[in-house]
Amino acid sequence: MSEEATDDVVKVIRTPVQLDYNYSAGKSATRFLRAMKEGKLIGQRCPVDGRVYFPSRGSCPMHGVPIEGEPVELADTGTLVTFSIVRIPAEAVPLDVPFVTVQVLLDGADTVLMHLLGNCELDDVHMGMRVKAVWKPKEEWTESVANILYFEPLDEPDADYDSYKEHI
Ligand SMILES: [Zn+2]
Repeated sequence: MSEEATDDVVKVIRTPVQLDYNYSAGKSATRFLRAMKEGKLIGQRCPVDGRVYFPSRGSCPMHGVPIEGEPVELADTGTLVTFSIVRIPAEAVPLDVPFVTVQVLLDGADTVLMHLLGNCELDDVHMGMRVKAVWKPKEEWTESVANILYFEPLDEPDADYDSYKEHI
């Protein structure tokens, strides 16, 4: 190794780090993930105020009560509540930039789902637009939200602002 002195400063070093997790899904998430494998979107309704959480979960974080009722099957259509146009590539995202991340309020749900938008010009993306899920081929479905590839615009009038403003 050379012992020559240098004034060069190391500005960046690369230190790959990886953590593997074993995640215990529990009853509620298990039901949700098994439904995903069947192409169904399952939420659950809070017994106090009736809000529908998607994905389903075992308790309501607002009221601190268990959610044990029947699951609520949701449509794969919804309203784009907010979005972000991503122009910087990320190693964990196998997409060419720019791409669009979106928060979608599925029809019948009271919580938003973060996903991707496709088949849409960047200049056309806007809050309130109606969208529909684009699924992988059925034979590729697993217990994963990744069965939905992305959302794409629906040929419908925009949703009223009042219908999604509390989710922004
Ligand atoms: Zn609640």
